[in-house]
Parts: sequence; C-alpha cells; structure tokens
Amino acid sequence: MRHSTVWYPFTQHALEPPMRRIVGTEGAYLVDEDGASILDAISSWWVITHGHRHPVVMEAIRKATETYDQIIFAEYTHAPAEELARGLIEIAPPGLAHVFYSDSGSTAVEVALKMALGFFHNGGHPRNRICVLEHGYHGDTIGTMSTGERGVFNAAYAPLLFSVDRLPFPDPGREQATLDAFETACASGEVAALLIEPLLLGAGGMKTYPASVLSELKRIAERHSSLLIADEVMTGWGRTGSLFACEQASITPDILCTSKGMTGGVLPLAATLCTGQIFEAHLSPDRRKTFFHSSSYTANPIACAAALANLAVWKGEPVRERIEVLTERQRQQIARFAEDLRFVNVRQRGTIAALDLKVPAGGYLAEVGPRLKAFFRERGLLIRPLGNVIYLMPPYCITEDDLQRAYDAIDEAASLFGAGRL
Ligand SMILES: *Cc1c(COP(=O)(O)O)cnc(C)c1O
Repeated sequence: MRHSTVWYPFTQHALEPPMRRIVGTEGAYLVDEDGASILDAISSWWVITHGHRHPVVMEAIRKATETYDQIIFAEYTHAPAEELARGLIEIAPPGLAHVFYSDSGSTAVEVALKMALGFFHNGGHPRNRICVLEHGYHGDTIGTMSTGERGVFNAAYAPLLFSVDRLPFPDPGREQATLDAFETACASGEVAALLIEPLLLGAGGMKTYPASVLSELKRIAERHSSLLIADEVMTGWGRTGSLFACEQASITPDILCTSKGMTGGVLPLAATLCTGQIFEAHLSPDRRKTFFHSSSYTANPIACAAALANLAVWKGEPVRERIEVLTERQRQQIARFAEDLRFVNVRQRGTIAALDLKVPAGGYLAEVGPRLKAFFRERGLLIRPLGNVIYLMPPYCITEDDLQRAYDAIDEAASLFGAGRL
C-alpha cells in the first residue's frame, strides 16, 4: 500500500496490507470483489444503524433525486430540511428548539462550540473556557482535536490547538473527583460550556460512566450558568439503548450534536440542536450578532430526505424492540468473558459491548491492535480494535448466529494474542 493515489484515513500506508475492494452492501454485510461476505460488526465506523441499504431510506433517496440536488440554504429553504427540523425537535430531549445543519460530526461540534461562545459574547459577558472529559473524542478538525484527548494522533498539531480544562474521567469510585473538578473550573465564572460524550466515550476507548454523573454535571453547569454540550454523534440513534443517551440521565443539554446514525448512516449529514435561549442570543438588529457559520452542503436536500426516512423507520418499524433484543444478546454473549482472566473491563451500554484484552503494553498503538485486526479480517469479520480494546457495535439487524460468530472469534483471538496465552 506504499504507493496509492488515494490517501486513506487513519492508514499507515507503509505498513497496511492492500485495501479490500467492496462492491456491495446488504444488511449487516459488506461484499468484496471476490464475492466474499464480511460481517460489519462496527457498523462501518459507527454510522450504519438499521443495516446497510435499508429499503425505506434508499427509496427516499431515489425519490429525492427526482426533485432536488443541492440548494443554497440561506435566503432559500426546502421542505426536507424544514420537516426534518420539526421531526428532530419532536424526538429530541424536551427544551431543544432549534436545528442548525452541517455535514459531519466534527462540524456539528464546531458549530456547538461557536454557539456557546457566541451566546456569551452576544450577551455582553464573554466566557472563553471549555471543559471536556479526559479521554474524550470530538472529531479531527483543529477545533475538535483541541477538545479531544491529546496523544499520538494530534502531537504534530499541538502548537495550533487551543487549551481546554480537562476533567478526570469518572472511573468507578472516582466520580466525585470529576464533579469537584468541574465545580472548581466553573467557580472561575469563565466556563462557557462542558463538552461531553454522554455515558460512553467512543474513540477514547469505549469507556463508560454512570448516568448519575452526567445529571450531576448538568446540575453544576446550571448552577454556574455554564452550558452543557452533549456530543451524541456516536451515542445517538439508539446505540446506548435509548434514542439519545442523555435520556438515561433525564437531562436536556443546552446544545446537542448528532450525525452518524441520523440518515441511518447512509449519507453525510449533521445537526446541532440548541435551546431558544441560545438562538435568541443571536437575534438582534445588529448584524454583528449573526451566527456566522455555514458549509457549502449545509442541509443537502437528498441527505435530509434520507434522514426523514430514518425518522419514518424509527416511527413505523419496531426499532426499539430490535435494540432491546440486540442489547440482551450482547449481554448474554459478553457474559462469558466476565470472569475471564484474559480480559479486563468487560462492559456494555445498550447495543455496544467492549472489553480490554490483557497485553504487556496497551494503548492505541499496542502491537496487538494490527494483529487482532488481521486475524478478524481473515475470518470475514470487520472488527477494528482500538489498541487492545475490542468492541462490537453492530447494526441492529445482526442475527444471533452472526453475533455468536464474532464472539467466538474474539475468544479465539484472546488465546492467540492475549498476555494470558502460554
Ligand atoms: C465520530 C465522532 C465525531 C466526529 O464525527 P465525523 O463525522 O467523523 O466528523 C465526533 N464526536 C464523536 C463522539 C464521534 O464518535
């Protein structure tokens, strides 16, 4: 793969084997050019929710292409974006009132940060500090990298990244330290917002924390008139068991970011939802208070049509039941590793399950990562461990047999590559 016209993301071209060319997708599967089926146990980087090429979403896209392409989204509007905004507000945590469109999870978070700073700036009492959780991930743009965990991924760009206040991760028994750190940061009166992945930190290693910590953080934020930004880019659309993870903490964030599963994972689209208060802080006869943000493909009508179809699937099909069934199957399957000495931190949040393989040296660049990936690949499984953290985040249509097959492979891989092997 040294010589490649295409420069692939998160790919070390000097080391990786040739890309596998995919010619089609169906349900929980990718099909390669040799006709081999690959079980997509990570939903193609966490985007596919119901399964690949859900017929309702695909049909909506076909239909939308008969009427629309891209339409400028200032001065002009279109029905798919308007209907979708109403639909999102209907299902989002109560109190969110406005929808700002963009095209990726990273931009949804950038928009959220700008909304938060704009809110305080326009109110005449600027606040410039952002609090985040240790191990967080919010995207790969300069702004979102600034808010994410620092490490090998962003070492080269560190000089350009802005500083944020990092709260210690609420590991079991250390929850109070997180709350205290937030309280202390807020006491400065300079914290505009806490940006946080609710209940489950994805790219940071599928780390989970209790809903009670999230609701307590929201209370602290309220006490100090700081905002809470929920980055639900990954946790949204049922992954953690509820439509949005915030529901489990019974909170409404001031700002909520959603993307990945918003179109069922079929087309790129994102939205940043906010309260009336934040929208109104940008309302003024003074044009300087305008929210100055857009991207060319904002609210692409075809992507909005796909998202509307996704909403229809959620309303018209037993999606919640499918999620309950998958959650229960994950629980049963991962239980076999609960007392297994080859693993630590066996955990689950709704449809997502994860466990850490014991290895001499862990972390994202753990030697074992590429070996595990190659092992799974040979067995027709798309599973990409984060270093020694193995996780399954399958589409909701995965069958019991397929899930079993994935767990059997994890079992075998642990014997071959774990520190527990002899
Ligand atoms: C994937 C992800 C992002 C970034 O989304 P992109 O669409 O890849 O830009 C942001 N936040 C979280 C929590 C994510 O998992």
